[in-house]
Amino acid sequence: MSGYDELIASLSSTQRTWLVTGCAGFIGSNLVEALLRLNQWVVGLDNYSTGNQQNLDEVKSLVSPGQWGRFAMSSGDIQDSGVCQRACKGVDFVLHQAALGSVPRSIKEPVVSHASNVSGFLNMLVAARDAGAKRFVYASSSAVYGDSPDLPKVEDRIGRCLSPYAATKRMNELYADVFARCYGVEAIGLRYFNVFGPRQDPDGPYAAVIPRWISAILRREPVFINGDGETSRDFCYVANVVQANLLAATVTKQETVNQVYNVAVNARTSLNELFVLIQDRLGSTQPEIRKLEPTYLEFRPGDVRHSDADIAKAQRLLGYEPTHCIGHGLDEALNWYVEHLAPKLERESRD
Ligand code: NAD
Repeated sequence: MSGYDELIASLSSTQRTWLVTGCAGFIGSNLVEALLRLNQWVVGLDNYSTGNQQNLDEVKSLVSPGQWGRFAMSSGDIQDSGVCQRACKGVDFVLHQAALGSVPRSIKEPVVSHASNVSGFLNMLVAARDAGAKRFVYASSSAVYGDSPDLPKVEDRIGRCLSPYAATKRMNELYADVFARCYGVEAIGLRYFNVFGPRQDPDGPYAAVIPRWISAILRREPVFINGDGETSRDFCYVANVVQANLLAATVTKQETVNQVYNVAVNARTSLNELFVLIQDRLGSTQPEIRKLEPTYLEFRPGDVRHSDADIAKAQRLLGYEPTHCIGHGLDEALNWYVEHLAPKLERESRD
């Protein structure tokens, strides 16, 4: 039995209260779903800036009425300290996901990204401290590795940040570290590497590559690759991220807390390879997809060239063992996209 299996078994018989910020977003809604399935009490906080109610409606449809009855929604913005204080009241664990993602967005609007990602983060840390939460687990990012050429990425070797987004996530790590020293807050930062899975938004200018491409292919629109396609990423299915959060919140050994951990798979996939992986899968039912070719554009400013995580620290200290490689994750996620985009595409072709 893995450490995670043991945790799942023990959580099923012990009910805790969890606060998930960013609960209407992609990762947040997957955390809410997983926790409710384990019969936990969950408080959700979101301002619906990039998340949406449909994600929560879908979670409601996937859990039992009794499990959904354990969910309490709190709408509000983490830039408001009162909102954070109210949301943290009585919670055991905080899983802080709320932030404005996207490197290009932060380059265009650095002040807006800073307000949610740094000021909002600080409000949440203070509120978790004041409420006496047992653990504050937060979403950091592989973006903090910046211009470091080292591969694979090891937690204690980072480079200079290449975007305001990366700087906000680095500041999160610095604040968490300082709060551990000054106030004894137990915090764990999880550096996510290119997460994908159900409920990741395929639309809008800041959509992530996998949902954007799936949506474009299903619509027979061009797929754009920034650069020569040899840029590579450690794509991580959302189930692995859920596992890392639950382990980080509940792990008890003292040397595990007040640390940051890579959350990924330790496997590098180039954008050209990713295109083929998606094309092969979608092409199995719609053969004309196999003939599509991507369109290559300029490299995007602020983008890291290669990303591949060393996950040994998370394996050793958290007991993290990713259950999904990219192929397995794509098989699960593609079904979701095809099912969810089909009615939209039908409407579009009628209009
Ligand atoms: P998402 O946009 O789907 O979810 C973020 C959620 O936070 C949204 O529901 C949004 O409405 C909410 N939010 C944003 N600002 C807020 C504010 N000021 N107050 C309250 N709610 C607010 O994004 P995601 O992909 O689920 O990302 C979750 C977290 O993981 C973020 O912190 C992101 O930076 C981090 N992360 C994600 C990835 C990835 O590949 N998806 C990679 C690295 C780090």
